[in-house]
Amino acid sequence: MSRMLRDVKLKTDVVRRGTHGRKVVRPMTPRYITIHSTQNYSADACKHALALKNGALRSPKTRNGNRIGYLIWHFTVDDRLAVQHMPTSEQGEHADFNGPGNRLSIGIEMCEHRGSSRSATLERTAKLTAVLMKKNGIPLKNVVPHYHWPRAGKHPPNKNCPHYLMDNGRPGAKWRGFLGRVNYYYQKIQA
Ligand SMILES: [Zn+2]
Repeated sequence: MSRMLRDVKLKTDVVRRGTHGRKVVRPMTPRYITIHSTQNYSADACKHALALKNGALRSPKTRNGNRIGYLIWHFTVDDRLAVQHMPTSEQGEHADFNGPGNRLSIGIEMCEHRGSSRSATLERTAKLTAVLMKKNGIPLKNVVPHYHWPRAGKHPPNKNCPHYLMDNGRPGAKWRGFLGRVNYYYQKIQA
C-alpha cells in the first residue's frame, strides 16, 4: 500500500481548521468514496488547493442547500500529483448538501485542465481510491460517481459528474471501466 501511495504522489496541503470550508468541523466515518471532475479547464490540483485555502470557492448557503457557504472536498488529483485538502474524518461539501454523499463520503475531484493527460489523472485517481478503500474498509460497490447522490431541489437532481465517465449523463460502460481500474489496484494491495 505504501508503494502505491508513493506512486500517487500525495501532497498534504490542508485548509486551516476553523477557516472557509473547514470553519464548521463536522466529524465523519467515511463509508463511500465519491468521484467528481472539476469541469475547470484552467486549474491543476495545486491551483485548486490554493483556491480552497483562500476561501475562493464559495457557494450560496441556503436552507436545504449548501450548509456552510463554501465548497470543499478531500482530494484533488491531476496528471502529476494529488493534494489532500482536509482530513477524511471530516465531512466535505461537494455532493448533495445535507445528504449522505456529504455526510458519509470522501470526495475526490479529478482535474481536467487543458494540456493535462486524462488517462494519467484517471490512473492516479484509481490508485488513490484503492488506497482509501483499504484504509477505511470501503467496498468497491461504495465507490460512486457524484451522479449517485440526488441533490434535493436541483433539476436534474442527479448531476452529470464526472461527465467524461458518464454515458448519456449516467453511469454505464465508461464508469464500469473506471471501477475495473480501481479494483485492479485494490487487488494489487491485497496481494
Ligand atoms: Zn461533482
